[in-house]
Amino acid sequence: MPRFEAGTVWLAGAGPGDPGLLSLLTLAGLRRADRVVHDALIDPRVLALAGPGAVLEEWGKRGGRVSPRQDAITARLIELAGQGHRVLRLKGGDPLVFGRGAEEALGLAAAGVPFRLVPGITAGIGGLAYAGIPVSAGGVAGGVALVTGHGPDGALPDEIDRLALAPVLVVYMGLGHLAALSQRLIAAGRDPAETAALVEAAATPGQRVVETKVAALAEAAAAAGIKAPALVAVGPVVALRARLDWWRPETEG
Ligand code: SAH
Repeated sequence: MPRFEAGTVWLAGAGPGDPGLLSLLTLAGLRRADRVVHDALIDPRVLALAGPGAVLEEWGKRGGRVSPRQDAITARLIELAGQGHRVLRLKGGDPLVFGRGAEEALGLAAAGVPFRLVPGITAGIGGLAYAGIPVSAGGVAGGVALVTGHGPDGALPDEIDRLALAPVLVVYMGLGHLAALSQRLIAAGRDPAETAALVEAAATPGQRVVETKVAALAEAAAAAGIKAPALVAVGPVVALRARLDWWRPETEG
């Protein structure tokens, strides 16, 4: 394992939930950090793996609540590193997939703070595996687009229209605009009857999956009471879940 030097920041991913999905590097960072600055979404079972001397600080975005400004989070990381701490900045999933990890790393780079990027398993790939949905499958789908449903102004971003016809489309942070999402995908040429799924709290004990059609995302989510964090998956791979749904709550740790 690389040394975790004093005065440096590791910007690490914690995966979608199950602590078994942490990388050995992220686990080493958790054990050795003396400050853990984490997102609101981090699974409590993951935080429990921090070393006994570590001080935990929750600094993250949480939908619907007052969130710290992004520049305040980056400033805090720079401050803690400047004080000589080993700082683990822990984010859900992969820090560089819709996690603002790039913004924070750019801030550290600009401030001259040494950092390491530690990838994690992103919810839109590894989390879907827990729902029995592979993001690619031979002869079924050979391409996947990961897209955010939350543009800079909070609405669905233009990327949705540009990526709408990807063989498999995985939408993060899309729950707020499901009716508009269906409409934009259909307008771009997607079949309204194509299989789709909503996956809530993937890889956690509370995981729930609702299978539906492209045209019915909002109705299906409302009927099941789907809450964040949740993903939308669209494409022929969703139908493979009928044979690949391996997850059982009773066997999870
Ligand atoms: N960096 C994270 C994504 C952060 S954006 C990653 O790589 O996974 C937050 C969004 O990620 C949520 O709104 C949701 O769409 C998705 N998400 C994160 N964890 C999830 C989980 N366990 N189950 C379902 N969706 C999840």
